[in-house]
Amino acid sequence: MAKKKKKPFVKLQCQECKRINYFTHKSKKLREQKLELKKFCKWCKKHTIHKEVKK
Ligand SMILES: [Zn+2]
Repeated sequence: MAKKKKKPFVKLQCQECKRINYFTHKSKKLREQKLELKKFCKWCKKHTIHKEVKK
């Protein structure tokens, strides 16, 4: 049986406290561009910019 390929996923890191708060799957279309999302950080207790980090 062939092993299933793992879906590429990225971590989203809060740019203020540098904690990893979110994991998300990245579609093929988005793979070339860096993700940058405004999400709620439970550590900063506010919405902050979350950027994609490798590994
Ligand atoms: Zn934060």
